[in-house]
Formats: sequence, C-alpha cells, structure tokens
Amino acid sequence: MPTHGAMPNSFDPTRADALEPRARALVARRRRLLGPGYKLFYEQPIEVVRGEGVHLFDADGNAYLDAYNNVPCVGHCHPHVVEAIARQAGTLNSNTRYLAEPLLDYAERLLATHHEGLGSVMLACSGSEATDLALRIARHATGAKGVVVTANAYHGVTAAAAEVSPSLGANEPLGVHVRTVAPPGPGDTDAGAAFALRVEEAIVDLRRHGTATAAVLMDTLLSSDGLVPDPPGFLRPVADVAHAAGALFIADEVQAGFGRTGAAMWGYQRHGIEPDLVTMGKPMGNGVPISGVAARPELLERFGNEVRYFNTFGANSIAIAAAAAVLDVIEGDDLVARVGEAGAHLRTGLAGLAREHTVLRNVRGAGLYVAADLVDPATGAPDARATSRVVNGLRERRVLISAAGATASALKVRPPLPFGRDHADQLLAALADVLAAAC
Ligand code: PMP
Repeated sequence: MPTHGAMPNSFDPTRADALEPRARALVARRRRLLGPGYKLFYEQPIEVVRGEGVHLFDADGNAYLDAYNNVPCVGHCHPHVVEAIARQAGTLNSNTRYLAEPLLDYAERLLATHHEGLGSVMLACSGSEATDLALRIARHATGAKGVVVTANAYHGVTAAAAEVSPSLGANEPLGVHVRTVAPPGPGDTDAGAAFALRVEEAIVDLRRHGTATAAVLMDTLLSSDGLVPDPPGFLRPVADVAHAAGALFIADEVQAGFGRTGAAMWGYQRHGIEPDLVTMGKPMGNGVPISGVAARPELLERFGNEVRYFNTFGANSIAIAAAAAVLDVIEGDDLVARVGEAGAHLRTGLAGLAREHTVLRNVRGAGLYVAADLVDPATGAPDARATSRVVNGLRERRVLISAAGATASALKVRPPLPFGRDHADQLLAALADVLAAAC
C-alpha cells in the first residue's frame, strides 16, 4: 500500500537486476546521488538523448513516438523556439527590474488570448509558483483563507501548492482551510449542478469552521482526477457558486492551456466561464521555465501595491523569447484547430477499440488530452494492473503514454501538439496489438 501519492507506471527499483548493464548502472548511480525521490517511467526505463517534433530518441538511435509530454507543446526542439532562445542567450538575459519591450509585447499578446476581464499578468518560473502566487493574490484580495479543490487535485510542489494538492497522498497534509470535493464521474448527465452543490457544501463547511472561502481552484480538465472534460460548461455553475460566496474562481491552465483542448486557447473558454485568476505554466516556454498568473487588474493593483513580490528568474529575457516563439508557432501553424482535428480522430479510433475490447471503457478527452479506463470486464472495477501492462506494452512498441487518475487505471495520452492523424494511427495500431496480447 503506497503511503505517498501513486506515481503510475514507475520503474520498480527492486527489479533493477532485470535491466541491461548500462541501465542498471545508471539506475544505481541515480539512486545513490539523487536519493529515492526521483521516479522513472516504465518497467524498462528509457535513456533519452535527443528529441525532435513528436519523437524522442534513445542512446541507440531508436525513435519513440511521444504521446505523453505536454511541456514541449509545439514539439521537441522546435527550430523556431531554439533559434529564439539561442539568439536571446547571445544578446541579453536579465530580470524584470529594467525596462524591456519584449516583456511588454509578450504580456500584451498573452493577455489578448484571454477573456477581456484579465488585464494584467505576473510571471514566474513554474506552475507551482503560479499556484502559490494566485493563492496569495486571492487571499489578499478577499481577506479569506479557505480553498476548495477536487478530490485528487494536483496544483504543485511548494508548501502552499502542496496544501491544495490531495493527490500527493496521505503523508502530505492538506491545509486546515482546504476542502475537497468529488469530481463528476464519467457520463454524469447533471455534472454541473451536482458538482456545484458539492462545492457549495464545502464552502458552507468552511464557514461552519469559521473560515470564509478565498478561492475555488480547479484544473479546467480535472486531469489528475482522471480527466473530466465533459460536458463543456459544467464548471459554469461551480464558478457561479464561488462568486455568490464572495470567493474567486482560479482556473489552473497548467495542463489545459495553450491550445491543448483543441477548442480554444484556454480550457476555461470551453466552459464559457470568466475566471478571476488563471495560472499558466508547463507548455508556456516549450521547456524553458516560465509560468504566470493572469488576473483582473484590480486584484493585481492591490496585491502589487501592498505586497512585495520579485521573482529573480521569472520572465527573464530568455524565457520571454521562448514564450513569444511558442505563441508564434501556435498561431502561425493554426495549432488549436489541428489539435481539435487530431484529437477527434484519436478518440474515434479509441472508441472503435473499446467496442472490440471490453476492458477498455469511457473514452474521453478534449483535443490532445485523451483518456480511457481499463476495467475488469466482469465487474467494471478499475484495473490499474491492466493499465500498467498496456502502458508498458506500448513502451515496448516505442509508443510513450502514461496513466492517470486516483487509482492510476486510466490511460493518459497527452502528446506534443503537432501530433497528427498519422501519429494517432500509429498509436492506435500499437494499442490494438497490446490489447490483443496483454488483456
Ligand atoms: N497545476 C497542474 C494542473 C499541474 O499539472 C502541475 C504540474 N504537473 C502544476 C500545477 C505544477 O507545475 P510545475 O510542475 O511546473 O510546478
């Protein structure tokens, strides 16, 4: 029974003897130097040495179809981003305490992609820092402390972000002012109303314990809760409930943002809501650390005037160059539309496989964030072992995915955004093969 948040499909160090000599030596060295905190994907860990587009390459030159990594959102080592980083690294890398137009140009472009109420942005380095900052802004603005999150939410690694991240497991205590609510289940027809009621009950419970609610904080795809994308709009009554209680709605777009859903630039736009604060991270710099919090200007006005905040590396010149280049590619290559199309093709293929294989159920997703459950066909119970067999079977066929959800029993497919129909077909063929062999 793991006492920490489950890290699905990680390499089991007690089975290191089964590895090839080089991998075995690297695993032992890693364990000695980095301690036990660092997990590796897959029963047979991969030594990656190069990336290009939607492919990773191992030390022997084998190509792996990367259907998992969302950070290199416009593709591994995209030449336009690489060139922008290199050019900027050879020109200037500085912090935000000097006048610099590229920072303002980027802020303007980024805010133009958001709803009109979000007029200002603060920049940091990681999604966790963005969560941390958004919580500070919300608490400062409302004078309240309470936060409502979903039952298996993940919002990051800083002390404040960990307090609102129940997926870290029982050894990482939630904050005393934090309440969790069950996410909608697959196919819930009244998902919005029932979910909003649970959020309201959590707010009432906080009040009962003497704490007003500062924020309802949600990943707009509920990805760590096993991916709950539908029906679009189900977050609307949730945001209404938050506002009625005087709380802010914070959309965590670290997963759903930058076109991932194939429907819009931001996951919250699929739900037709206007969050007060939006956190962004991971894909923002295609691998260069940059994150941010977009906000209603009045919120930043108060926070910025009354609280000192400086982030040494946040929005440094290289990060801004990378982030601007990412927007160039998303816009120039019409990526959002292409993601929508490739994602729909992938889901159709998965639904076809689910008709043939009763172990595969609940195909769901938005754009290129796609999940499906593996279950015991007799009972319908989630089957994390089968999921692990499938994930590792795909890895043997050089297709990389992972698992998601509280029980790690959902297949999680979340490739770089240039993943097209051909790549989806390759994944589907490999999956058909694995399902036939392993389930
Ligand atoms: N929010 C969500 C929804 C995330 O998925 C993550 C990272 N997995 C974070 C926040 C934290 O981001 P980072 O790892 O960059 O700190």
